[in-house]
Amino acid sequence: IIVGGLVIGMLSIILAGYSLARRAMVPIQESWERQQQFVADASHELRTPLAVINSNAELMLRHPSHTVEEESIRVTNIVREVRRMTKLVADLLTLARSDANQSEIKLGLVNLNELIEMIAGQFMPLAEMEGLTLRAATGDRLELTADRERLHQLLVILLDNAIKYTPPPGEIVITGNKQGNSLIVTVEDSGQGIAAEDLPRVFDRFYRGDKVRSREKGGSGLGLSIAKWIVEQHDGKIGVESRPGGGTKFSIVLPVKKLP
Ligand code: ADP
Repeated sequence: IIVGGLVIGMLSIILAGYSLARRAMVPIQESWERQQQFVADASHELRTPLAVINSNAELMLRHPSHTVEEESIRVTNIVREVRRMTKLVADLLTLARSDANQSEIKLGLVNLNELIEMIAGQFMPLAEMEGLTLRAATGDRLELTADRERLHQLLVILLDNAIKYTPPPGEIVITGNKQGNSLIVTVEDSGQGIAAEDLPRVFDRFYRGDKVRSREKGGSGLGLSIAKWIVEQHDGKIGVESRPGGGTKFSIVLPVKKLP
């Protein structure tokens, strides 16, 4: 009886151990699958510009054109795709580093009023060229402990999108306000909006709602996933409200933290 009890006891310990090990493997398996998907999506995104560069270069090599105009069109195509790839590779590097926890956040005291005004100023000529008006409105004194470069990148992503997805004559407004111990930044446009079924997925990697416009404007579907990562690195939150045809509003809540 004692031996029988011991065997049953040992068997149940082995079974429990096995089931624990299997359960522990699930997150590893999921993370592995996510990485595989990331590599597959990244390769797919890189293939299109490479194909365009290759075909234009081959054409120049095999059928040298006699007109400067024709050659210039081919070179323009190549330069556009090289730019697209350069941006894509930079975005991929940011995300790969974030996955490996290799991205350092360099904290310092940031004057958000100044940052918002500066970026709005930088984007104004582009907005005007696209037939849009861009306005910045910051009321309170907005100071926080944050990584200035990363916040700059975050606002560039949101303003770039607002311009990309707002047909003329539209308006884009960026605001900054203080609410208790948080700073609220919003970027609102009067553009095409986002379909309800796309809304929950816009922060996913490589997700594009408007595929045609995104590709046309050099998008890769990575901007908002980087934006979300930056906000989370600051212990903040990002949300979006949108209606097709009724514009889009991104809201960011950032806690004001003191430097350690
Ligand atoms: P993309 O490079 O495609 O712009 P993002 O990750 O920046 O990638 O955005 C994901 C998708 O969210 C876009 O493809 C677009 O459909 C939608 N989107 C983002 N910002 C806006 C906006 N301001 N107005 C309408 N749609 C937007």
